Amino acid sequence: MGQEVIVRCHCGQLSEKAQLRDEIPVKGSLCHCNICRHVTGTLTFSGVALASPPAEAFISKLVRYPTSEKIDRYFCKTCGSHVCYYVVKEDRWSACPGAIDEVIGGSKGALEKYTEHEFVGDTVDGGLAWTLPDIPVYVAGTEGTPLTDLRKETRRWQESAQTTKEDKLEAQCHCGQVRLTVLRPDESASKWRGGICACRSCRLSCSQPLAVWAMDIPFAKVVWADVMVFDGSAHPSITRFQSSDHAHRDFCSKCGASVLYTSTTQPGQLDVAFGLLRAKDGALAKSFIEWDTGKIHHQEDAFDKELLKRVKDNLGALEQA
Ligand SMILES: [Zn+2]
Ligand SMILES: [Zn+2]
Ligand SMILES: [Zn+2]
Repeated sequence: MGQEVIVRCHCGQLSEKAQLRDEIPVKGSLCHCNICRHVTGTLTFSGVALASPPAEAFISKLVRYPTSEKIDRYFCKTCGSHVCYYVVKEDRWSACPGAIDEVIGGSKGALEKYTEHEFVGDTVDGGLAWTLPDIPVYVAGTEGTPLTDLRKETRRWQESAQTTKEDKLEAQCHCGQVRLTVLRPDESASKWRGGICACRSCRLSCSQPLAVWAMDIPFAKVVWADVMVFDGSAHPSITRFQSSDHAHRDFCSKCGASVLYTSTTQPGQLDVAFGLLRAKDGALAKSFIEWDTGKIHHQEDAFDKELLKRVKDNLGALEQA
């Protein structure tokens, strides 16, 4: 049996003591698949198995969103946090690691120990697998053989994706209710900024240890499909959650995907949840995004300090990816 933890959503309406099935650091795969990226808004996904199902009263307050017949995902209708999920075939409940806000009686070190990367083939460019280079990389599930040369393979994937220089970048949540297009900056050669954030607010919001954003995009450079809105606030499929006195987080009401971050400290600009981006050249969208490889934002707030350190030490690899 593992440790007891507090699993909670961002707004705090849902908070539950739960026992982990395994000891911390919990071993497991890091998933890079399209579904996980599009439903969380961040670039990677993992889960931490629970020893027993959460209380019925807890589950009943969550919105259930099945992403396939295999997995039911659950998120808070007020704040969008994907706090847990259910694997049908294994009859197993897992908490999303970003929703673990406290290890009872435990210190903050490594919460998880990733044993391999899964479904990296979906990323086309390797995604964030570059930042954790010391574990095996699988193109799909772990039944196959791990890759021996990720660089060679991503070059091949990108060639077959036939990437041409596009002038706009599509973004869409998993369910497709929220669709938007990001235009290029005015100087046609320039790019938007992309970066990773480790702050508690982002972690609870995307329910994974590290959130990833396409940053500081002016409202005028975002075109919304179907509806006329500036910043998403009046979008019929978006729920807005005020995450601090100056910031809002917008998420899809149907699938719970993080969509936007806006702050009164950056008027007229927004950050788009990176996992929604559909760049043809890959999950890192490098034809549109200049990655912040010098730092992880709010790194002092990281819950899993060991993970933070490992990713930070390898951030430079995104430049060559
Ligand atoms: Zn909530
Ligand atoms: Zn959606
Ligand atoms: Zn943040």
